[in-house]
Amino acid sequence: FKSKLPNVGTTIFSVMSALATKHNAINLSQGFPDFDSDQKLIDLVSRAMNSGYNHYAPMLGNLELREAISKKIDALYGTTYHTENEITVTAGATQAIFTIISTFIKPGDEVIFFKPAYDSYQPNVELNGGVIVPIQLQASNNFKVDWHEVKAKINSQTKMIIINTPHNPTGTVFSKDDMLQLENLTKNTNIMVLSDEVYEHMIYDGASHQSACLFPGLKARSFVVASFCKTFHNTGWRIGYCCAPKELMQEFVKVHQFNVFCIHHPTQKGIADYMQEPKHYLELSGFYQEKRNLFLNLIKDSKFKFTASKGTYFQVLDYSGITQEYDVDFAKRLTIESGIASIPLSVFNSNNLDNKVLRFCFAKKDDTLKRAADVLNGI
Ligand code: GLN
Repeated sequence: FKSKLPNVGTTIFSVMSALATKHNAINLSQGFPDFDSDQKLIDLVSRAMNSGYNHYAPMLGNLELREAISKKIDALYGTTYHTENEITVTAGATQAIFTIISTFIKPGDEVIFFKPAYDSYQPNVELNGGVIVPIQLQASNNFKVDWHEVKAKINSQTKMIIINTPHNPTGTVFSKDDMLQLENLTKNTNIMVLSDEVYEHMIYDGASHQSACLFPGLKARSFVVASFCKTFHNTGWRIGYCCAPKELMQEFVKVHQFNVFCIHHPTQKGIADYMQEPKHYLELSGFYQEKRNLFLNLIKDSKFKFTASKGTYFQVLDYSGITQEYDVDFAKRLTIESGIASIPLSVFNSNNLDNKVLRFCFAKKDDTLKRAADVLNGI
């Protein structure tokens, strides 16, 4: 057979986590916590299992959960997504992204996105015959978007622009001005926006998350994608959601129904109950900001250079003062020889551009961060 994705290997997250396990290294590579989800949430899910939530959920998701999502968005962003046709619960953000792209991208459609980029966007577009139009962001410019460059890439074939704020892997966030620029550029076009906002509740130093739904011109053309796995420390549960105006959601559901039909029901019910207390997501930024501060404080005298992450649970570190090795080689060597695993940024870049930057996940116990810092300070 002829592969539909000839240039795709195994995702770097699995590769680095496997290497970390093999060499018994501290794993700051794949983005997941090394602590467990709240026992209270686990109890709510088992309570749901013990009280009959074991058959199909409605296709769009358990109604109480869609109501909790709608209420949260209204409280945080002052805008409404209707539960009956504008919110769908998905098997993690990854399935939402896959299904959105599969629903709308046809052969020849152009999709603009910013590199470094999360590694699923490109294969999702290519699987549907779409043409990727990457815009490379530079470490030397703090990964800021030049909106003139975006304007120059837009043409009649442009079908979708994918944004991701807070941004994996760099930890940068879009400002209000960034969002206004995007709103302005897409005005009077048919371009859709896929706004990957899975780290919306991890935003630091008093900044506020600029969701696409805050901007009416963007909301009207956007899918906003969110993740419970990131927010509630249970990446293995595979549960997230997406929101969009009903005309867009109607098309999405046509594919979603034959993709997964619906998501694990008791988990939805448990999360709906857990969300009745908003502190469960509102306290997340403070929680992770402390971890970021601890980690950066511990490595401030190391040879790594950094600008503090503004969001996500990732911190990028520049190692150009240590070695000129290619980042993939350095990341592998650090795992094997020094016992610490990270993610090399070049795998998220166009043309494997090597910025001499590695990504470290700080969603870890304080003790793990201390052990990690000890290793990094010795390099
Ligand atoms: N989002 C996670 C990360 O960036 C990984 C997701 C995955 O492994 N599929 O590390």
